[in-house]
Amino acid sequence: MAKSASIGIPTEPIGSIPRPLALIQRVARGGSEDANEDPDLAPLFEDAVRDTIERFEATGSPVVTDGEQRKYLGFASYCVYGLPNTAPDGFTIPFANGHTRRLARLTYGPFRYRRYADRYLEVAMRYAHVPVKQAVISPSALSLMYPAETIPDYSREQFIEDLLREHETEIRSCLKKGAYKVQVDFTEGRLAVKIDPSGHLLNSFIDLINLALARFSPEERRRIGVHTCPGNDHESTHSADVDYAELLPSLLELRAGNFYIALAGEPERRRVLQIIRKHLRPDQRIFVGVTAPTNPRIETAEEVCDRVLEASEYIPIEQLGTTDDCGFSPFFDNTSLSRDTAFAKIQARVLGTKLAEKRIGGH
Ligand SMILES: [Zn+2]
Repeated sequence: MAKSASIGIPTEPIGSIPRPLALIQRVARGGSEDANEDPDLAPLFEDAVRDTIERFEATGSPVVTDGEQRKYLGFASYCVYGLPNTAPDGFTIPFANGHTRRLARLTYGPFRYRRYADRYLEVAMRYAHVPVKQAVISPSALSLMYPAETIPDYSREQFIEDLLREHETEIRSCLKKGAYKVQVDFTEGRLAVKIDPSGHLLNSFIDLINLALARFSPEERRRIGVHTCPGNDHESTHSADVDYAELLPSLLELRAGNFYIALAGEPERRRVLQIIRKHLRPDQRIFVGVTAPTNPRIETAEEVCDRVLEASEYIPIEQLGTTDDCGFSPFFDNTSLSRDTAFAKIQARVLGTKLAEKRIGGH
């Protein structure tokens, strides 16, 4: 019998790369309300994106991002930063090492994004020679901006309607401009179980994201993915203690075509893979995390390969992919990991995935 044709295991990053220190320092001195729109800063941002994409491509990564160099404040706040109808004292994300991050609070309606992520994609695509992926924040994370008490003349229902429209607009613009994939960052999924162990909050998040996904065609949803992780900031997490068994069955009810699931940092990977196998649907591809951004130690290609082989025991090869457990610096000012380390880890992911392809394909 002829040898089977060589198999392909897609590999994709999550998104963020630590920003150059000079850029972080310059933005911190700031003065501008919106650093992205400050003409003095524009060349620094441009350089950061160009350098990031160059180094990304040098790792051999078949899909790259702009490293979210321009997402000021971070993965969750880039689209609302600088809005006049927000206050800084919104929802608090507590991390295991004691530090916190806060979202903005909406003070009056209507809710509109200040900027959409397709503006980042556009710049990245000017520099990239390979497909570019774009991450966007989930509607569920932004839903936390609406305060506990009702805003006068702007009901929660009106807010959700505006939010879904803005989120849909953002994804559509990214797809239209040629994003290889659009990834919805859903780090608050696992956190939701911690905040509300009854599962009610998680289910409301799943419903909200599914309402958004229902606006897209099956072909479009094949280019849309959802990322879950226990959080990643200053080498710490916000919900690693939440059992994946409480999250994954609901997560896989999302009508997205791709799932980017942090796995490398999990203590019981096989147990997680069993849960995925049980709830996986035929039209879903699972990108398992094979590198851990919360750990500064650089994985070897062999190690990555072993993790892919392990995952392939549970997930059909045609539904398997690899990724990093999270972005390497989801918040703009985080310097706990160096750019060198981030790219070295990405290279290990790329090489290790190729190695696994060869082993599984029998070459
Ligand atoms: Zn993440």
